[in-house]
Amino acid sequence: MRTADVLIIGGGLTGLTLNYLLRKAGYAALILEARGRLGGRIWTKTTTEGVNIDMGATWLGQKHTHLVQLLQELNLPVFQQRLGAKALFEQHQQDKAQIVPLPPNNDPSYRIQGGTSALIQALARHLPDEAVLLDTPVEKIHAKADGVYTFSGALTIKSKVVVSTLPPNLLTHRIKLQPALPDSLIRLMQQTHTWMGESIKAGVAYKSLFWRKDGQEGTAFSHTGPFTELYDHTDAEEGHFALKGFLRNDMANLGAPARKRLVEGQLVKFFGQHALNYTSYEEAVWPAEPFTHAPYEHPVLPHQNNGHEMYRKPYWDGRFFLAGSETAETFPGYMEGALRSAEWVHQELTQSNTLFK
Ligand SMILES: Cc1cc2nc3c(=O)[nH]c(=O)nc-3n(C[C@H](O)[C@H](O)[C@H](O)COP(=O)(O)OP(=O)(O)OC[C@H]3O[C@@H](n4cnc5c(N)ncnc54)[C@H](O)[C@@H]3O)c2cc1C
Repeated sequence: MRTADVLIIGGGLTGLTLNYLLRKAGYAALILEARGRLGGRIWTKTTTEGVNIDMGATWLGQKHTHLVQLLQELNLPVFQQRLGAKALFEQHQQDKAQIVPLPPNNDPSYRIQGGTSALIQALARHLPDEAVLLDTPVEKIHAKADGVYTFSGALTIKSKVVVSTLPPNLLTHRIKLQPALPDSLIRLMQQTHTWMGESIKAGVAYKSLFWRKDGQEGTAFSHTGPFTELYDHTDAEEGHFALKGFLRNDMANLGAPARKRLVEGQLVKFFGQHALNYTSYEEAVWPAEPFTHAPYEHPVLPHQNNGHEMYRKPYWDGRFFLAGSETAETFPGYMEGALRSAEWVHQELTQSNTLFK
């Protein structure tokens, strides 16, 4: 049986940031990650031509102060999302898309150079190989008098503390906890929205910025879809070119080939036949990702119960913490929330005596 002081469940932004902060303070942690990759809802796919397409988290703003500071600390530059002064707007499928002016943008969005996964890679440099187990979905956690026991298949790990970074609703579906958490907390978790858990993203890479030659910026909005929003996803150096956006949520009910056909049709409508000369098509259907999304018992609204105060209490006498972006007091659901949640757990752990017992 393996042992650890702090066991972190989930190698997304929260888990990796918590590991980073704990190691800076001289503590060791072990991460168990269900997927075969780190990053969770941060996932930059690199096409065979080297185009980085962010299939999950992409944008940050100056208001995300802790994230901005971490990026500076890790020497990760950002660049402004290009929107342009006008966009295409599609109201009805049968009508031509119109060109509409965009209002001045006083709160621009930024992207991380190299893709958002550059942040995951930089944090992973502070995670020794032996301190992370991939393809290790946790199934059960059992708190006993002599420690907390975590189970994944044949693996058992005994630790002083366990920190879950799963979206709360997912945790209630995937992991059996013994003793059970309070009923009121379980109900809250079941009614906590997983931010962007229903989203579908698609990205298309090209050999040139052909849409700009035609006077477009690549920004488009549609009431019909499949893309509801589309943006220029070209890299900072303007050496690799792509368009990327969100598809209508109900596109999850179609198969991948049917979705792609609809995307192609809409791109041709927006930018002409040249739009079919793409080098790669990438998509991520987040509601089909079992380690992000789980069905809700009752419908929930976007951000419902995100940041609820019940998430910022230790459970099991300070041996179990609920972390993850949705639990953060500030900017829950966003990357900034993931950082703030990791900072809160880090503070709780380093200020309590739990780790020295
Ligand atoms: C399509 C999309 C677009 C987004 N856009 C933005 C954006 O532009 N800006 C922004 O700020 N935020 C955005 N977000 C939100 C952002 O991605 C999240 O806030 C952040 O990545 C959450 O990190 P986390 O570590 O808290 O959770 P997660 O990334 O969900 O990490 C949880 C981890 O737990 C793992 N896991 C799950 N079950 C188990 C198990 N049983 N055992 C072990 N491990 C398990 C998962 O695989 C995952 O790695 C977006 C999200 C999506 C999906």
